[in-house]
Amino acid sequence: MSGDGIVPTTSAPAAAAIAQDTPCRKCGYNLRGLSVEGRCPECGTSVGFSLQGDLLRYCDPNWVDALRRGVKCIIAAVVLGIFGVVAGIALGVGAGNAGIGFAVGGGAVVVAMIVAAVGWWMLTQPDPSGLGEDQYGTPRKIIRVAQVVGLAHVALVGLTATITVDDATLLALQAVSVVAIVVSAVGIFAECSYLERIARRIPDEKLSSRAHFLMWALGVSYAGSQLMSTAANLSGSRRPTQGFVCFNAILNLFMLVFLIMFLLMLEKIGKRFKEQATAARQTWAAVPFQALTPPATGTPLV
Ligand SMILES: [Zn+2]
Repeated sequence: MSGDGIVPTTSAPAAAAIAQDTPCRKCGYNLRGLSVEGRCPECGTSVGFSLQGDLLRYCDPNWVDALRRGVKCIIAAVVLGIFGVVAGIALGVGAGNAGIGFAVGGGAVVVAMIVAAVGWWMLTQPDPSGLGEDQYGTPRKIIRVAQVVGLAHVALVGLTATITVDDATLLALQAVSVVAIVVSAVGIFAECSYLERIARRIPDEKLSSRAHFLMWALGVSYAGSQLMSTAANLSGSRRPTQGFVCFNAILNLFMLVFLIMFLLMLEKIGKRFKEQATAARQTWAAVPFQALTPPATGTPLV
């Protein structure tokens, strides 16, 4: 199967050499100066793969598979979280046992957060060739930091729930919580920004612009709802106004809609990753550019 835009190896009796810095698709080795018909001297991958732009279908299929597994993990985590909360509420209200309901709902959310963090870790593995880092290297790293901060925050909240603290400590904890909430809001922006850009490597402009929309829709509604609940917590015993309650409910409803859109988008991206991994595997197995060339030793120009 020959892809679009394969660099033609026509007519030239001696194969052309690569004139500019070009990372190997599998190991990142700089192929500059090597013959386009040769192989990477580090890992033996055909040089031709590394000349195809940055589309996922020409990438290391194992890496694309890792991205797909990450997507699956995140979807499972979100579904688990939603079901856990619903089950917790049902147990709490239905069985009239708020303690059990809270434990089930809270436990499910914690497990979901851990699974989601593992998923995001897989989905943000860097391309072994180093391609794409100039596009999304920063959001990719922010996502990882935000996941770690989120887990640490949950651990801290869990810990402080089991002990009694004085007012000063409580104030410090509230400050830490506000920072953690800001980090998680930034994390949502980073997640969508990363997905927007990696979707261009499929390439899928529709998914890319959906991710761009959700970056603002989900990011702003999440930040808003967190801000509202923080304000409600800080106001203490004062009863919130009806307007406040109403606005907060609408905001949360919007956020739920955007979260479902996010899930559907992830599901589509996971499917596209699967296609691209399959295409990449076929491409890599096809061994173009003179399959019988023995593993080349580097013949640098100059
Ligand atoms: Zn290589």
